[in-house]
Amino acid sequence: MPTQWESLANEHILGIAPYEPGKPIEELEREFGIHDAIKLASNENPLPPSDRVRQAIVTALAALNRYPDGSGFYLRQALAKKHGVSPEQIVLGNGSNELIELLVRAFLRPGDEAIVPHPSFVVYPMIVQAAGGVRVMVMLKDYRLDLEAMARALTPLTKLVFIANPNNPTATIVTAEEVEHFMARVPERTIVVFDEAYIEFAMGPDFPETLAYVKQGRKVIVLRTFSKAASLAGLRVGYGIADADAIALMNRIRQPFNVNSLAQAAALAALDDEPHVLECVRTIEAGRHFLYEEFKALGLQYVPSRANFILVDAGRSAADIYQRLLKEGVIVRPMTPFGMETALRVTVGTPEENRKLVRAFRAVLGKPSA
Ligand SMILES: *Cc1c(COP(=O)(O)O)cnc(C)c1O
Repeated sequence: MPTQWESLANEHILGIAPYEPGKPIEELEREFGIHDAIKLASNENPLPPSDRVRQAIVTALAALNRYPDGSGFYLRQALAKKHGVSPEQIVLGNGSNELIELLVRAFLRPGDEAIVPHPSFVVYPMIVQAAGGVRVMVMLKDYRLDLEAMARALTPLTKLVFIANPNNPTATIVTAEEVEHFMARVPERTIVVFDEAYIEFAMGPDFPETLAYVKQGRKVIVLRTFSKAASLAGLRVGYGIADADAIALMNRIRQPFNVNSLAQAAALAALDDEPHVLECVRTIEAGRHFLYEEFKALGLQYVPSRANFILVDAGRSAADIYQRLLKEGVIVRPMTPFGMETALRVTVGTPEENRKLVRAFRAVLGKPSA
């Protein structure tokens, strides 16, 4: 029986499974009687923002009585310069998540199809469904987006295609060559969204330069964020880059003050802080290699990662291992909701956190400690 409120609701949202946010770390410590718990569940950057970013935030505090700059003038100008586009080609969002919502609302008409890889970011199908669109789910192949199968799924009704690169939760990439083949098959009426939240961790000669498609005038929207490599997940700021006409449409439905003034100030300072990003990328790279070696020693299979997280196949119930790791004070993400019954996604942490994760795995798997 639907509740009275459900019978009043927009019918498109009724089929959507509610997002299950994790518990705050303090609550978990209380529940399990543990302390010094660590969270490696949300792909956050283990390093806090740099002093220069914190200073920018402190400076901006004095003007909190004012509304933020609704156009994000300086931040868009700096981003435009960095990427070699015009400020009119950039839209700011309350995290790149908000931009996924804005672009779906701007472009997806009820009944339009959106091609969504699976398993991938759960936000894509959720927002498509909420907008009355049709989700066309295309399974990954060998933990990677299957661009061949995604191209075959294109129909005259396809309005949007989502490409998370690197993909969450598998941390694999699609290459420049694969993307080039795919783009050659995408018709003019279809918009391709490249979600590059983890791009800083993935750089290499095989990684596609998707901004080139924007500059060629293709129907492409590139999404980036300050949440991952820039250590600013808590402030919520991301951006989209596309043709100025596409951005203008997204701006029509954007809340004027969607990005707060502390977030704008911090993001602007973070853009000037290459050394911080480099340090994070190096920390993550070293952490990945440390964890690969330890996982091998523990007999755990993993998917080599191009991001700040690793998909691990424990070979037995991930839900069970997740619960046992919790008792060891380590929070990871079981992939059970994706139908991957034995897989866990672990975020790469600081060296100390990574060692704690390994100790917890050892205890849970009943392996003698090294
Ligand atoms: C973490 C993540 C984001 C970032 O979202 P924000 O709203 O910018 O914090 C975007 N896409 C994917 C696939 C992610 O995993």
